[in-house]
This record gives sequence, C-alpha cells and structure tokens, in this order.
Amino acid sequence: MATPQKLRCLVNKITDHGDHVYTVDLAPERPVPRFKPGQFLHLTLDDYDPSGFWPESRVFSIASSPAQRDHPKIAYSVKGRYTARMENELTPGSMVWVKLPYGDFVIQDANNVALPAGGTGITAFIAFIDGLSNEFHNNIFLAYGVRKPELLLYRDIIAAKAGANNGFHASYFVETDDKNKSGSTKGQAPEFFTGFLSLDAIWNQLKNPQETTYYIAGPPAMIQALTGNLLKKNISPEMIKVDAWE
Ligand SMILES: Cc1cc2nc3c(=O)[nH]c(=O)nc-3n(C[C@H](O)[C@H](O)[C@H](O)COP(=O)(O)OP(=O)(O)OC[C@H]3O[C@@H](n4cnc5c(N)ncnc54)[C@H](O)[C@@H]3O)c2cc1C
Repeated sequence: MATPQKLRCLVNKITDHGDHVYTVDLAPERPVPRFKPGQFLHLTLDDYDPSGFWPESRVFSIASSPAQRDHPKIAYSVKGRYTARMENELTPGSMVWVKLPYGDFVIQDANNVALPAGGTGITAFIAFIDGLSNEFHNNIFLAYGVRKPELLLYRDIIAAKAGANNGFHASYFVETDDKNKSGSTKGQAPEFFTGFLSLDAIWNQLKNPQETTYYIAGPPAMIQALTGNLLKKNISPEMIKVDAWE
C-alpha cells in the first residue's frame, strides 16, 4: 500500500449535476501516489502548512481511474456544514489540499460480486468498473439507486462496460419515475427500475446470490437495511463489505 502523501491541487473543473451533487476535477502539483480502486482521499479547503497540523477535512472516494494520477476526481453531495462550505467556496481556479491514499474497500473480483451503490456511493465503485477488462469469468452486478435520473453519474462508463462484458450487469433504481429524462427502455442495458434500491428488488437479478460477495456503498440507512436483509438471507457477515460513510 502506497504511503499517503499530501498534495496541493488546482480545481480544474466543477460539474453541477443538480440537487447539490457535484463532480470536482483536480489538477495536483504532481501525480498523486498510486492508489487502488475503492480507496479515498482527505480534502481540505484550508491552506495547509507542512510544518503544522492538517486542517479540518472530509473524505471522498477517488472517483477516477488509478491510471489517471494527474487528474483525480471526486464527486460529492451536500450533506452538512463542510460540504455546504465546499459548494460555496469551490470554483474553477481555487486551490485545495488532499492527502491520499487511504482505505481498504478494495473489491476482490475472484468471486461473484454485487455492488449496491446509493447516490454518490457510486464513486467507491467507478474506478473498479472503469478498469474492468473485456474478459473475466465471474459475475459483477451493479445496482445503483438515485433520487432522480439526472443524478445517475458515469452512465457512459457503465453502459460501455455493460455492453462490452457479458459478466457485467447493471441496473438503475430511480425513486422518481421520469422515463423521458432517463431515455431508457426495458431490455436495454443497464435496465431502469422505478423505486428504492432494496435487496428484494435485486435478489432475483443475482446469478448466484449465496456465492456472491456484497460490497455496499452509500448512505448509512441504505447500508443498514441491505446488510440486515442479507444476514436474514443467510449471507455470512464476511461476505458483506461496507464503505461506511459516517
Ligand atoms: C470512506 C468514505 C468515503 C466517502 N466518500 C464520499 C464521496 O465520495 N462523496 C460524498 O459526497 N461523501 C463521501 N463521504 C462522506 C463525506 O466524507 C462527509 O462525511 C459527508 O459528506 C457529510 O457531509 P459534511 O461533511 O458536510 O457534514 P458535517 O455535518 O460537516 O460533518 C459530518 C461528519 O463529519 C465529522 N466531522 C465533524 N466535524 C469534523 C472535524 N472538525 N474534522 C473531521 N471530521 C469532522 C463528524 O463525524 C460529522 O458527523 C465518504 C465518507 C467516508 C467515510
């Protein structure tokens, strides 16, 4: 595991996805250290003096490929005081500090894997999905739930990988039904469902649910509900990995 480093970064671009959800493209002063898909960084808005303490910060999954070490990205949704500060203060051209890499939420794809992602929880999986090769021999199932279709991030990457790999399947769960905006039809990959992402909603889509490792990322309530229901289905605790965000 690479030793964490602290780097100053220029904010290159900010994409506003609506509903206080943003992607931030960073340009670090030098390439970030090697990291693994699923790892995260600490970001602080305050200037950091290397002879002093690290300022208040929050952690964000690195939402870009480990191959792009000079262009790391994060995506965040405004939840509390600090992310509200990010929304107010971050503009293209601002400077931030990051330290990385951290975390062990790293998918071992030797098994069948299911990846339930709620909202910006998708960021924990996108580097892994982006890095999937066209040939692998296990099943990978992404179940991605959002409030509305505009908040489905990385649809181009997910659709390209679902089209190129027979073993990679993805389903979107959108709380509000707006098929016009989603532009999808049943039978296309990824398929759209209306309603909450739940274990009942995905169970029948899993190829071999008892022989699957579950990696769950998203809001605490979703993690708690899915974990509890998986245990009720006799999935052993060591087959359930969570990226607990709080
Ligand atoms: C592994 C991991 C990956 C994450 N990835 C993402 C991501 O990709 N996108 C995303 O939107 N969110 C992500 N989060 C959540 C994110 O880090 C924030 O916690 C979340 O957005 C809460 O919003 P806030 O910080 O504005 O809330 P706040 O209300 O400001 O704080 C929320 C929590 O932060 C902690 N906190 C409070 N004060 C301090 C302080 N002075 N110093 C340090 N911590 C403090 C407390 O636990 C508090 O409950 C991730 C969290 C984890 C643990």
